Amino acid sequence: MKTAPRPLSFPFPQPPFLPGWVWLVGAGPGDPGLLTLHAAHALSWADVVVHDALVNTDVLRLARADAEVIHAGKRGGKPSASQPDISNRLVSLAREGKRVLRLKGGDPFIFGRGGEEARALVAAGVPFRVVPGITSGIGGLAYAGIPATTRETNAAIAFVTGHAASGAVPDNVDWAALSRSASVLVIYMAVKHLGTIVDKLLAGGRSPEEPLAFICSATTTRQRVVVSTLGQAVADRDAQGVEAPAIVVVGEVVRLRDQLGAWWDPAELLSVVHDSAAE
Ligand code: SAH
Repeated sequence: MKTAPRPLSFPFPQPPFLPGWVWLVGAGPGDPGLLTLHAAHALSWADVVVHDALVNTDVLRLARADAEVIHAGKRGGKPSASQPDISNRLVSLAREGKRVLRLKGGDPFIFGRGGEEARALVAAGVPFRVVPGITSGIGGLAYAGIPATTRETNAAIAFVTGHAASGAVPDNVDWAALSRSASVLVIYMAVKHLGTIVDKLLAGGRSPEEPLAFICSATTTRQRVVVSTLGQAVADRDAQGVEAPAIVVVGEVVRLRDQLGAWWDPAELLSVVHDSAAE
């Protein structure tokens, strides 16, 4: 027997989460405080939450106590569910009359296959809503003390993936043109193929002295920032044991971290959990 949902209340109208609907929602990069109000509202209503491996487990604690929580990502070396399997699952749960929350790390439409899932829902005639989230390439930079743009450093920024569906560095990116045109590059899924990516950027005219930072497990209690240069990046990745998930940011903005300092301390999240447990 399911208990009644306990919706959050807001002093303004929220869109109703109706049975038979799928909400495709970004959970942000990790810190639960970076959820949108729509995301928190959806968590408090959903009958079933289908989430990726990148969604922080603290965020899932906002789900209804009786919600069914389904992990649809890679974990423990097991292969991830295939994309058609996940999309079919969303369709069949919605057709059972459930309120289906599809929760994805960061923003659902930034290198997150949210577009494929939305297309599958359209094809199946399942009604849905999209709730954007703070992507790790924005939230991670902010929590690392690296402004994505400043007037002095850059008038452009590019979001790039280092990993195509094929598993290799994407060949539909003109790396030389990118090197010339975007002074700040925010590269997702770049850890594995870093050597190839660095070579392409250097061949495109970027300097080996240019600052680069790895932001690992951004905005979580495990956040770690490793500052390097394009020329030293591969050696530092190996020497420092940089691990995914990590955002790689290349550009002069990285130097501003020296001025902003490590303003955010991951221990803050632990103390928040600690304080609320003590209440
Ligand atoms: N939709 C997600 C990206 C999914 S692709 C978003 O908008 O953030 C997966 C890649 O995202 C990871 O390999 C890593 O490069 C990046 N990523 C996601 N969450 C991260 C986090 N908390 N810290 C660092 N990188 C993260």
